[in-house]
Amino acid sequence: MIPDRMKRVNEACKEALGEILQEKIKDPRVGFVTVTGVEVTPDLHQAKVWLSVLGSDEEVETAMRVLEKAKGFMRKELGMRVRMRYTPELKIILDHGPEISERLQGILHELEEEWQLKELERIVSALKETAIIGIASHINPDGDSVGSLLALAMVLDGAGRRVRPCIPEPWKFPPQYGFLPGREMLIDPGDLEEGLELFVALDCSNPERLGPLQAKAESARTLINIDHHEDNKLYGTVNLVEAAASSTSEIVLAIIKEGGWSLEPEVATCLYTGVVTDTGRFQHRNTSPRTFALAGELASAGADIFQVVKEVYDNQSLQYTRLLGRALQRLDVVEDHSLGYSYITQQDLDETGATLPETEDLIDHLRAVKDIRVVALFKELEDGRVRVSLRSRDGYEVGPIARAMGGGGHALAAGYTSDKDITRSIEVLIEKLRDRRG
Ligand code: AMP
Ligand code: MN
Ligand code: MN
Repeated sequence: MIPDRMKRVNEACKEALGEILQEKIKDPRVGFVTVTGVEVTPDLHQAKVWLSVLGSDEEVETAMRVLEKAKGFMRKELGMRVRMRYTPELKIILDHGPEISERLQGILHELEEEWQLKELERIVSALKETAIIGIASHINPDGDSVGSLLALAMVLDGAGRRVRPCIPEPWKFPPQYGFLPGREMLIDPGDLEEGLELFVALDCSNPERLGPLQAKAESARTLINIDHHEDNKLYGTVNLVEAAASSTSEIVLAIIKEGGWSLEPEVATCLYTGVVTDTGRFQHRNTSPRTFALAGELASAGADIFQVVKEVYDNQSLQYTRLLGRALQRLDVVEDHSLGYSYITQQDLDETGATLPETEDLIDHLRAVKDIRVVALFKELEDGRVRVSLRSRDGYEVGPIARAMGGGGHALAAGYTSDKDITRSIEVLIEKLRDRRG
């Protein structure tokens, strides 16, 4: 049995070490560490210190290594905080107790939820209290950024705010979203004011995604960043980033609910478009039971679900259909099926009469081919640079590749822009994939 005197010593040391870890150990590699127990020998020469560390095996190992090095420092600090005849040497032991780390996970999760709720409340009050609000999608907008942009613009307009919604140049409005309500509210990005009190960036993982609107967005007093990319740079004054959300449109719906605004059928149609396109018609990995519940809610609110699929998917121009034929014809599979790729040049666009915004879903046709691991589509831009879209078929993560190339995106759907011509861009990607496979 441990005598009471030693129990008190153990307790005092545990408390002090907890404080030391929290206040003095600033190394980010240490992460979330808790002292779960301390046992000092009666002669005070040694103390066993059990620590629970949160994270992957690798993170835990790194944290333990750093703490092992910091033992001397921690001992000195302990000596200053707990009066003992002798300050014990510390022996650090990793506490594997599963229920402890589960409990900590739970606490962290709660903290996160609380934090997100606070952000949601802050955003809603800012939207209610500000008279003029700038809102923007990312460059080369897709269904999610256009849908969330128009939905938020309509809701705020209905609530009496003066909204300044716009899409960054130079991309033209994608024709397949021309049916969306609220489109007439969009303003010319050139007319957007500098230094607005409030600016909302939608579906942008970093401020560069705002293209030429970045400076105006950053000149706003408050910049709200609403997004669902896991690589989001948290560049806003307020950040509402939910990687578990299917789409930015899903987060905008949460804002509408939190604000107590009514969900009009036109708004529901825009949000539904965002959800349908970002989940690839409920087929990509970001689809969950919650996504179907959300779709049901939007359909109940009057979203025109048939019009959305008809306009977005069953509406392709003859010109684009011919371009699609060229791209499919060119599909090349290399590196023992590691990569399947195709490309579109400016000359293809000229000759077929198709436009780049129409090609948003072209890559899905390549992705449908079995046995290929990663698919890439190279699209030559007017200025000669090349937009590269990457998709994974078997869980191989393409997000890190896109980031290594200066772009970004999700684990299984990502992209970047290359300064090289198409031939060279293809070669560079093949080399990169080869390097990663080692
Ligand atoms: P895309 O291939 O253009 O449909 O893009 C796929 C995903 O990658 C989307 O989630 C984009 O937001 C993201 N993405 C594409 N290009 C970039 C880029 N240059 N920087 C950051 N994210 C990107
Ligand atoms: Mn997007
Ligand atoms: Mn999105």
